[in-house]
Amino acid sequence: MTIPMKKHYDVIIIGAGPAGIFSALELSKLNSKLNILIVDKGKSIINRTCPMRTLDRCINCEPCGITYGWAGAGAFSDGKLSLSPEVGGNITDYMSEDEAQKLINYADSIYLSFGAQQEVHGLNNKVVDDIKYEASKHNIRLIPCPVRHLGTEKAFFVLEGMYKQLIENTKTEFSELTSVEDIIIENNRAVGVNLVKKKESYKVTADYIIAAPGRGGAEWLSDQARKLNIPNTNNAVDIGVRVEVPNSIMDHLTKELYEAKLVYYSDTFDNKVRTFCMNPGGVVSQETYEGGITLVNGHSYAEDERKTENTNFAMLVSTTFTEPFNEPIEYGKYVGRLANMLTGGGIMVQRLGDLLQGRRTDKDRLKKSTTIPTLKNAVPGDLSYVLPNRYLTSIIEAIKAFDKIAPGMYSKNTLLYGVECKFYSSKIQVNNNFETKIENLYTIGDGAGITRGLMQASVTGVVVARDIVSKCK
Ligand SMILES: Cc1cc2nc3c(=O)[nH]c(=O)nc-3n(C[C@H](O)[C@H](O)[C@H](O)COP(=O)(O)OP(=O)(O)OC[C@H]3O[C@@H](n4cnc5c(N)ncnc54)[C@H](O)[C@@H]3O)c2cc1C
Repeated sequence: MTIPMKKHYDVIIIGAGPAGIFSALELSKLNSKLNILIVDKGKSIINRTCPMRTLDRCINCEPCGITYGWAGAGAFSDGKLSLSPEVGGNITDYMSEDEAQKLINYADSIYLSFGAQQEVHGLNNKVVDDIKYEASKHNIRLIPCPVRHLGTEKAFFVLEGMYKQLIENTKTEFSELTSVEDIIIENNRAVGVNLVKKKESYKVTADYIIAAPGRGGAEWLSDQARKLNIPNTNNAVDIGVRVEVPNSIMDHLTKELYEAKLVYYSDTFDNKVRTFCMNPGGVVSQETYEGGITLVNGHSYAEDERKTENTNFAMLVSTTFTEPFNEPIEYGKYVGRLANMLTGGGIMVQRLGDLLQGRRTDKDRLKKSTTIPTLKNAVPGDLSYVLPNRYLTSIIEAIKAFDKIAPGMYSKNTLLYGVECKFYSSKIQVNNNFETKIENLYTIGDGAGITRGLMQASVTGVVVARDIVSKCK
């Protein structure tokens, strides 16, 4: 589709990530007559690629193939569906735990109907309880969470199936490489959007607007909220590293749990340090955000032949800044930029042993590492020039603690990649149906600061769709 076909739609959805897709799926399921337009600044799923996966180096695509486009940040994600309301966002601030669990089960059934794997990890209560018990001896909290793991290739396939369903069988249109510049408001009511596609501007109107721009569009959404006087509050920013160790260190945890969600409060600063996005047999990856900042991430494939010998996971320190500072995203990006500056634009990697000895990792030292880095273009360096002492000390103390339940983690050859940063952005004020104080303007998903993962983002889409359909009656 070159430009939006119509001038007016029932619903315009900004962002084709899981939040936007699930809005459209539920809207069209509940009312097949609805004309829906989804716009995304990235490409359609069939055109999405990340050259890094074949070239082993980032060529800074504009827009980044990992972050933007149909399926949003979910397209090349690891596809771990967290099936507990305790994980992946704050939806329980807007509904009861029971309700959240029911919605998760519902969204999960949709993933299953599009071909997600049947297997769920972390359901063996005896083993989970044993790990939890052992962790508690060392001041470590294990957050149990059943996980359905799609794997990167399957996640792509499932989200592509949703695209085909919506485009071929419903009155949903998708406009790729289309950015929403502004949301148009009249008399305190959302009435449309100003779009830019191929440098041409268009105004398209709609009865309802759903803004689901993800982390990549979080700053844009905050700006819109400021312009429209929608209150928003600072969320925490999570800054840290991606840790990579041999599978042999983590297998006893990941074989059962798939993802061991561990929390430790650091000894020196009493800061919360948590593990996140664990990828057994996975690869470390990098993603580029607007403004050219490059951050580290990770994922894994479900197929055995694509598994690696390493497990990677994020180790993040949460900070909620207090007044007068209110730019947590900028702060996180600033730290990320330091790593980019020292590496010539990319990701830095350091052996834990070198960090502890106060020296940089260079190519020769990295060659000696028995843990072979899976992010081939990471530049060996010294993270102590990048991460503030508070973060670095907290991370080192947490690794030392986790070594007690995963012996070998606190080893000289454990690899630390920087910087990993999760921006939860400003939390935009919404009611329990995710509607802002502007009538018929909803905002959901990661970009609104409400969620942090595929499942909860999907759930917010379902909630909004049901509310809109109930109003259309
Ligand atoms: C490498 C990687 C691995 C991950 N692994 C997992 C995992 O295993 N499990 C898990 O639960 N989560 C994972 N995540 C996180 C997960 O992908 C996100 O939480 C989820 O995609 C958020 O959904 P969303 O719909 O809110 O936003 P997104 O998926 O980010 O989608 C937002 C979309 O909005 C578009 N957009 C932004 N601004 C505009 C604008 N102004 N105009 C038009 N379009 C706009 C963007 O192009 C984007 O496509 C991973 C993320 C990455 C990057």
